[in-house]
Amino acid sequence: MVESGRLAVYDAPGKPFELRRFPIRPPRAGEVLVRIRMSTICRSDIHSYLGHRPNPCPGVLGHEIIGNIVAMGEGIRQDMRGDPLAVGDRITWSEYFIPGDSYYTEVLDLPQKSPGVDKYGHMAVATDPHHHGGFGEYCYVLPRSWILKLPEVLTDEEATPINCGVATMICVSGRAEIGMGDAVVVQGLGLLGLYGAAIAKARGARLVIGMDTVAARRDLSARFGVDHAFDPAAMSEAELVKKVQALCRPEGADAVIEVCGFPEVIPAGIQFLRTGGRYVLAGVVNPESFVCIDANLLLRKLITLRGVHNYHPRNLVEALDFVVANRRRFPFHDLVDGKYKLEEVGKAMQDAAERRVLRAAIVP
Ligand SMILES: [Zn+2]
Repeated sequence: MVESGRLAVYDAPGKPFELRRFPIRPPRAGEVLVRIRMSTICRSDIHSYLGHRPNPCPGVLGHEIIGNIVAMGEGIRQDMRGDPLAVGDRITWSEYFIPGDSYYTEVLDLPQKSPGVDKYGHMAVATDPHHHGGFGEYCYVLPRSWILKLPEVLTDEEATPINCGVATMICVSGRAEIGMGDAVVVQGLGLLGLYGAAIAKARGARLVIGMDTVAARRDLSARFGVDHAFDPAAMSEAELVKKVQALCRPEGADAVIEVCGFPEVIPAGIQFLRTGGRYVLAGVVNPESFVCIDANLLLRKLITLRGVHNYHPRNLVEALDFVVANRRRFPFHDLVDGKYKLEEVGKAMQDAAERRVLRAAIVP
């Protein structure tokens, strides 16, 4: 068996990545050792790297990962759906793992928020078994993760974002209760917004309105089910609200999804909604995302406001099935538009941070 593998490590926020070698041991009970095929850079990797939110250092980032099984620890026989697992299989797995059963798993059905939950690409590299992030050659899938075998029909580009981007938006669209005939507004047309639009259409939405200040993203969004794309910086909030209301007769959108990460869009989001509408926040992940809203509007319009952070394990299964079923309708493969070697993680992060690419992929 291989005895060591390289990881792209950074010592402190904003410091350059360095390739360092760390030992590899046989997987313990409940663990799976994986040779990484591809890891895509998520916006939250950028937030961590820039120090917008706490992440232990020296660290290894990356949680949207797929790979092939190298070795399986005791007790690992099948994936979460019951498909047998074998050495060589291409797999994806939940972006987080939990310490064990708790009130959150057993009573509240919120395993994704159990105390002690930890995420891949969120731990100090000194923490055993070192290889627990995507920007490297190997990764251990740790006990109490949820594993899925990937069907051959999917390309690596289609498969890699499933365990964060797609699963998150499956969760969001469910919490937004998007159903047949709905009119939906998506604030932010990055990867999450594009998947969100496609999922809304797959759930039967009649109309999807997208918003983003980046022209290239608005142009691309038509291929992912967005019927009208607006630049929120090109008009006043009142004009934007008027445009949405004119498109969503009689009164406004059934659901609004925030995936842009800017809390200042929330007051407009509330106004886009019809009476009884649903608003789901999934982008404002950084602490101190303060905003001033007219709370009376929430009350008078009977608005349901929900937050989504991490997804339920079932959303991972749904995400895989959604991509397999809709890969001919929407060009998911094209979303991964930049590929970088492990030596180029720094450049990949920079290109992603400056929005020169939609989803940068590290291919070790
Ligand atoms: Zn992510």
